Amino acid sequence: MSKHLKVAIIGAGPAGIYAGNILKNQHPDVEIDLFDSLPAPYGLIRYGVAPDHPRIKGIVNSLHEMLAEGTIRFYGNVTFGTDLHLKDIREHYHAVIFATGAIKDAQLDIPGIELDGSYGAADFVSWYDGHPDYPRTWPLVAKEVAVLGNGNVALDVARVLAKLPDDMLSTDIPANVYEGLKNSPVTDVHVFGRRGPSSIKFTPIELRELGEVKDVDIVVYEEDFAALPGKDSWFDEDGEGVTNQHKVMARIMNEWRERELTGAPRRLHLHFWHKPVEVLGTDGKVSGMKFERTADAGAGAISHTGEFREYNVQAVYRAIGYFGSELPGIPFDEKYGVIRNDGGRVVDEHGKRITGIYATGWIKRGPVGLIGHTKSDAMETIANLVSDIETLVDPTEESVLTKLIERGVEYTDWSGWLKLNEHELSLGAADTSHVERERVKVVDRDEMVRVSRD
Ligand code: NAP
Repeated sequence: MSKHLKVAIIGAGPAGIYAGNILKNQHPDVEIDLFDSLPAPYGLIRYGVAPDHPRIKGIVNSLHEMLAEGTIRFYGNVTFGTDLHLKDIREHYHAVIFATGAIKDAQLDIPGIELDGSYGAADFVSWYDGHPDYPRTWPLVAKEVAVLGNGNVALDVARVLAKLPDDMLSTDIPANVYEGLKNSPVTDVHVFGRRGPSSIKFTPIELRELGEVKDVDIVVYEEDFAALPGKDSWFDEDGEGVTNQHKVMARIMNEWRERELTGAPRRLHLHFWHKPVEVLGTDGKVSGMKFERTADAGAGAISHTGEFREYNVQAVYRAIGYFGSELPGIPFDEKYGVIRNDGGRVVDEHGKRITGIYATGWIKRGPVGLIGHTKSDAMETIANLVSDIETLVDPTEESVLTKLIERGVEYTDWSGWLKLNEHELSLGAADTSHVERERVKVVDRDEMVRVSRD
């Protein structure tokens, strides 16, 4: 246990930072370099959580403390496979932990999905969170929009589309996103689940806040609840497996069933028992969405009904799950979009362990679970890494930064992030034209690097 360890972590989101922090606590004789392809740290929190979710964004504060302490050294604007290779890792570190998450959209293989106006939710999230590698503008031209999926990402997308952007101005919403949303002509956002209301993957807080969005009426359809048993117990006829969370969500939706519409300028509709069949198009553009109505087949399963419905919409967002991206030279499971691993130890296609390579977070287990879940995930990976210490190969080279400098990589570091952070906060404070703004996020990569390295 006394070996001095050098470990690289790829991905400076919550998964990577939690892993680094747990490792440092379990094996204090360690140096950890944390790399990210983005110039700023915090991954999913900065680029995946909706701007109007300050409670979740607040996790940044504890991640900040973990990095500020100094053992984990942050280096941004460094892309694994381009700026830094597996060979470099082998020369400079005992081990590497991949914590690169999952930021692509899962595919939905239905006709018309490629039409203009059909989008992946992950791309839209990257746009509204100001990801530097995404376009600065988003075509918000639809009056009626379909959002496919009944998970929290579908709720985020639907809420951001329906909400009046002035109600998000106090957050870290980028300036271009505020302007884009301000000009949106949207009146109706329809969220579609392929199963019934008892099979939603929303969480209670996120569901409840929908009903609290100003100037937006929530519309639910009585026919979607017709097949369900008693009013409060409709999550499960026998009451089995019904958690307090389910009961809260049943109460919220039952309240919406009884609520009078207020005549608000925007409506957010929740539809259930709608399986996506085809995105309909005219002149290459989305003009509608076709569904087959499904029926309850028991135990959460659905059956076909042969009844089809079409809705006039001019944009479709599929929020049916994220998918991980393959990393050069690292065994990848194409089916599940994860790095092949056994408890976080990376294995080849025959299940054989590859010394010194580990994975944690969504790229290890797939894109499910809340941010807090990555902690227990990291515990498992780190416990395995620590028990492997004697098998890890000693590195032969000193600082990897020399190599990055030789390659002309304009990496950012912790002091650079502190400067960028201050800069964004000061831009927010300087904007006195509207409400008090938390910060104005810098969205241009070159600008982020320039401010960080100044
Ligand atoms: P998710 O929770 O897995 O939801 C995916 C949804 O897509 C499910 O309703 C699923 O339906 C549906 N779906 C999948 N394939 C489909 C298909 N072919 N046709 C129609 N519908 C399909 O995933 P997510 O929304 O991407 O969220 C990922 C994780 O991040 C979750 O753990 C989520 O809670 C978390 N998150 C949390 C927040 C927050 O504010 N707390 C925000 C965003 C994300 P079935 O159930 O029928 O498969």
